Amino acid sequence: MIKKTALVLAAVAMLSACDVVPVEPVPAPSGSGAASAPRISSSQAARSFVQVIKTVEPVAERECRARTSGVNCDFNIAVDDRPDQPANAYQTLDKQGRPVIFFTLGLIADARNADELAFVLGHEAAHHIAGHINRQQQNAVAGAVIFAGLATLSGGSAEAVQNAQRLGAEVGARRYSKDFELEADALGTIITARAGYDPLRGAEFFTRIPDPGDKFLGTHPPNASRIEVVRRTVAGL
Ligand SMILES: [Zn+2]
Repeated sequence: MIKKTALVLAAVAMLSACDVVPVEPVPAPSGSGAASAPRISSSQAARSFVQVIKTVEPVAERECRARTSGVNCDFNIAVDDRPDQPANAYQTLDKQGRPVIFFTLGLIADARNADELAFVLGHEAAHHIAGHINRQQQNAVAGAVIFAGLATLSGGSAEAVQNAQRLGAEVGARRYSKDFELEADALGTIITARAGYDPLRGAEFFTRIPDPGDKFLGTHPPNASRIEVVRRTVAGL
């Protein structure tokens, strides 16, 4: 509901569970309509953003209640209005455990259409519904334990163990994030479609962001895998 999702002008640096990925001016892949699509005007973008929140938030809330129990499903959608922030969106929890989804101004301005905004919102809501913040923290802890164990076995100093723990936490947290991204893309597709937006058109967003490729420690899956997940999910709807 829009009254619950008042646009909070927040300037808070918070834990970023996931990022949609910064949008850099990337050379357009040939034959991609989305990449060459012009930006919309800022007043149009603002209106479109408000409309998307009004429409998608209740659907995300419904999906959340249907798929979880004992989880706060009352999404608060907020704008990160720090002007130096790149185009990005992320999901976090406030102190009361309420899910907050931040859009940076850069992302709102960069979106080519409402479907892209709806898809990003669906994707971020999906991270919360799937419990990714908790699962990522658990993965980080498991990674730290394993790496510290290895360091101790090899007779490492206290400092070496600490370093290993830190590295392990990083590796543990990152290793799973590709799977989480694809999971969020799939559930985000469902939310976007049920809210009446076009997830395939929304996912054209990916054609404009730098492709992280398939790096072992990359935090994001290759863009082609993401688009493929959206296609498959749409086909199954
Ligand atoms: Zn994500």
